[in-house]
Amino acid sequence: MTQSIKTRCCIVGGGPAGMMLGYLLGRAGVDVVVLEKHADFFRDFRGDTVHPSTLQVMDELGLIDGFLQLPHQRLQKMQGLFAGTPVQIADLGRLKVKYNFIAFMPQWDFLNFLREAGRRFPSLKVMMRTEAVDLIRDGARIAGVRAKTPEGMVDIAADLTIACDGRHSTVRERAGLKVEEIGAPMDVLWFRAGKTLEETEKIFARVDPGKMMVTFDRGDYWQCAFVIPKGGYEAVKARGLEALLADIVRMAPVLKSGISDVKSWDDMKLLTVAINRLDKWVQPGLLCIGDAAHAMSPMGGVGVNLAVQDAVATANLLAARLQQGAPGEAELAAVQARREFPVRMTQRMQVVGQDNIVAMALKPGKTLKAPLPLRIVTAIPWLQGITARFLGLGVRPEHVHSPVARS
Ligand SMILES: Cc1cc2nc3c(=O)[nH]c(=O)nc-3n(C[C@H](O)[C@H](O)[C@H](O)COP(=O)(O)OP(=O)(O)OC[C@H]3O[C@@H](n4cnc5c(N)ncnc54)[C@H](O)[C@@H]3O)c2cc1C
Repeated sequence: MTQSIKTRCCIVGGGPAGMMLGYLLGRAGVDVVVLEKHADFFRDFRGDTVHPSTLQVMDELGLIDGFLQLPHQRLQKMQGLFAGTPVQIADLGRLKVKYNFIAFMPQWDFLNFLREAGRRFPSLKVMMRTEAVDLIRDGARIAGVRAKTPEGMVDIAADLTIACDGRHSTVRERAGLKVEEIGAPMDVLWFRAGKTLEETEKIFARVDPGKMMVTFDRGDYWQCAFVIPKGGYEAVKARGLEALLADIVRMAPVLKSGISDVKSWDDMKLLTVAINRLDKWVQPGLLCIGDAAHAMSPMGGVGVNLAVQDAVATANLLAARLQQGAPGEAELAAVQARREFPVRMTQRMQVVGQDNIVAMALKPGKTLKAPLPLRIVTAIPWLQGITARFLGLGVRPEHVHSPVARS
């Protein structure tokens, strides 16, 4: 038998966008349900860079002290090696903000933290192992979702449904929203290599002819991303694992001992990269935010932070309205109007980076030289403050203005 629930707002997806929005609406006393299809937040891969913009939001919510007590590593200077030449990409230490660093924290810690912090709001309900499979319609209006749970199907009637279900969003697909594909020239092999506490390395990005990789110091392991041409996985596999690992160690000698942790292809996850965005984020009764509205490339590690910014803007614009009833289409469209420009600007910069660095680097046999803008930024340190501002705070950073319910 199908069960029924009624709520003011149903958020589909418990990623950074969904969990932050659930927290903010719960804090405002809005009756809200967050659906997450998995049983927990422990996934092979989730972007785990928490930028100054997100740290600022955590501060404004009074959550920062507890948050920064969770294990994390801090990064201020983004330094790389381009065909053997050192390059400086950004220096977050130059930002005049309270938290001028990137905190590397497993995303499941971030999401669990938000979930635990949100437990004190009686109007917030998080339903794990609950997968939205279809939309409920009332004429032209989206009136909620139908979801699958281990106990059976459940219909969740909602005044507003918010899709935060990521770049393969079921909700946007069922709503028939039009996606503009911008494309990306690469995919990523994602793996961990062992690390002793003594091993340190300031370089985090490396580019050699035909190859590109990133290494993040995660305390007791290196989190690594080896960039391959889009669709090139089978060719990489055909060369063999040993050849790939040898290439990796040649590029990043610091991985020499730890690479033995990669024993088979099972230890390497292929992540496909996409950049796209919706034409319209809104239908009557429905709003899409985060990757469900605009899939981000890993370039700059900004996707999680943009998803959080979308959530803050949504709560700022809609929380008070939701306390009273269902927002109209024009009120929902105000969220797109607020967030579309930052998204477009960020995707534009990601495309410039993809076309001028990634695509060029991945062409085999090409003589490589750091692109002129990168050489200029390296030579003029104050410019590293500007790149840091773009990466760390983004375009039009959001601040929390949504209401707090009286208890
Ligand atoms: C290779 C790669 C590397 C990246 N690296 C970084 C990085 O280092 N830093 C960074 O900031 N960004 C990074 N990104 C981008 C980042 O991962 C995303 O932009 C960000 O996770 C978007 O957050 P979200 O909440 O919108 O969606 P997601 O994080 O995708 O969360 C969606 C959630 O919805 C759930 N869900 C999906 N469908 C349903 C359903 N039907 N019902 C219920 N629940 C559902 C999913 O289980 C998931 O928990 C990277 C992306 C790629 C591809």
